[in-house]
Order: sequence, then structure tokens, then C-alpha cells
Amino acid sequence: MATIGTDITYAFELLNREELVAIPTETVYGLAGNAFNALSVAKIFKVKERPSFDPLIVHTSDLERIHEFVVDIPEKAYDLATAFWPGPLTMVFKKKAIIPDLVTSGLDTVAVRIPKHALTLELLKSIDFPLAAPSANPFGYVSPTQATHVNEQLGAKIPYILDGGPCQVGVESTIVGFHGDEATVLRLGGCKVEDIERIVGKINIRLHASSNPVAPGMLDSHYAPLTPVRIGNIEELIAQYQGKRIGVLSFDRYYDGIDPINQFVLSKKGDLDEAATCLFTGLRQLDMLNLQLIISEYVQDIGLGRAINDRLRRAEAKRN
Ligand code: AMP
Ligand code: MG
Repeated sequence: MATIGTDITYAFELLNREELVAIPTETVYGLAGNAFNALSVAKIFKVKERPSFDPLIVHTSDLERIHEFVVDIPEKAYDLATAFWPGPLTMVFKKKAIIPDLVTSGLDTVAVRIPKHALTLELLKSIDFPLAAPSANPFGYVSPTQATHVNEQLGAKIPYILDGGPCQVGVESTIVGFHGDEATVLRLGGCKVEDIERIVGKINIRLHASSNPVAPGMLDSHYAPLTPVRIGNIEELIAQYQGKRIGVLSFDRYYDGIDPINQFVLSKKGDLDEAATCLFTGLRQLDMLNLQLIISEYVQDIGLGRAINDRLRRAEAKRN
């Protein structure tokens, strides 16, 4: 198993030796390596068993440092950076050659983010390269939002997990790309579309399915537990699947007829932000109960509800 701790100096040393370190962010835990070093980046793909067509997000500490590896930052991106960085927003820019092609799966653009987590920002400031970091889980599985989640699945393959406590946002970053100065949401996530629109006006949302190299990684099935997932009206689904060992992941209440041990309520007070924070913990917890089916429901499609619904849709897509 990996060592879990808060030693930034040790993390610094490992990263400088081309090793990988799991790092906390406000979205999910990342599996980080030197983004300028192809060997480190290759290790990330190997440890995660991630297909090489799925590009990585590059993390740094300061807007000024991004110029080192990005050709041009559109005006709107500056506005978004000012409003949301550090924070759960990733932006895609034309890359410089210093970023190995492996990081971007051969694309001429690179996805960049300044994460909002004190430990990781301190680490990023101390090293003289940015960190490529996808979520610290095996490819396709639910993302980790606690250090122990990382240890359970990747602990045998990495030396160190920097423990920053439970992730405050709990879903991955919102990704925004640019065509000239026109901004488009490529992935729904922890930065609310409504908040983005307050800065740049009405924005297109274009969520791609994968296998399309223009927007790789947005696989229909992703963020999925091993147990099959069905989404819909929970009461109707419970009736439909009677006789099966069922778990329920609900928005705000418990349901009759299912042992409460097999139920996870995302937010008893019906708060979408709180629901996002514990979505992946809930999916993981239910996935460990040896159930035949996890039943869940869509939430209101506003704010972080959009990201929650996106992740639930992809979790369900796995077995279909
Ligand atoms: P994650 O798995 O959370 O690290 O997110 C990585 C995702 O960011 C990928 O699966 C892509 O969907 C997206 N991404 C990364 N780089 C690019 C890029 N250059 N252009 C478009 N999307 C990208
Ligand atoms: Mg991921």
C-alpha cells in the first residue's frame, strides 16, 4: 500500500524523480506526474490503465506560468480565469511543444487548471514544472474523493498519497474550450454553467461522446461502479426489480422496502452542492455491498445538478 501523509517535501522529491504522487484537489484526487516529462506521463497511463487516446489535464499554480506551455490565451479565458481560478474550471488552449504529445493524446491543444487546494497549490508552487493529473482511479471507475479511496485501488502501484482530506466539490472540473473567442462547455463539472454565463454570457454546451478524437475521453460509460446502475423513479424501479439485492442512491430521502444499510442519501436537506460532494462516496459505498443493482434518480438539472446527472447517466451506460 502507498504511504498516506501530508509531507509536501517528500511529494516534491518523488515528482522530481519521475515518480507519481496522488494529490488532493477540491474536485477529486489526482494521479500526478511531471507534465513536461514523457516518462512520468507514461507511468500515469500505465497505473490507471488509461487508453492513450484520453488526454490529461495539466495543473499549475499561477496564470503567469501557463504561458510557458500555452501559445495563446483568449480574452474570455482571462475573464474566466480571474473569476474562477483557483477552482473547478479547466480550460483548453493551443499547446507549445514543451508539452509531450502523450499528455494531449496527440491533440495540438492542452487542458489546463489551477486547482483550489492549499496543500496542492503549495506543492505546485514549489516545483518548476506543471503536473499532469487525471483522477486517481482505474480508468472508467468512480473518481476518488478521499485519500483512502485512492489507496484501495492504486495503493499497490504508487509510493505516496498526499492527504488533503475529503474533496470539497466532489465532482470533476467543468471543461471549457475556445474557438477563437467563442467559449464552449465540453464537460459539465464543479464550476456551474450559470456562474460561467454570468462572466461570458450565454455559452454552448457540447458534450461529446468519445472515440471522437476531437473531444476524447468523454466516454458514454465512465465514472461507473462495478454494480449495474439504473436511473429513474426510485419507487417504480424498486417495484420492478423486487427479489433482487437492491441498493438505493437517492437525492434526499430513504425509501420503504429497502434495508437502510443499502441506501445512501446524497443530501437530506436537498442541497445540490452537498449532493455533488458525496456522490462518488455514495456510489463507492453501495458498490462494496455485493448488490445486484444500484437504483438512483436524476436531480434538478441546474447548478451542480447538471454534473451529478451527467455522472449518473455515464454510470448507468456501463451495462447497456
Ligand atoms: P480527467 O479524466 O478528469 O483528468 O479529465 C480529462 C478529460 O479532459 C479528458 O477525458 C478530456 O475529455 C478532457 N480533455 C483533456 N485534454 C483535452 C483537450 N486538449 N481537448 C479537449 N478535451 C480535453
Ligand atoms: Mg477520470
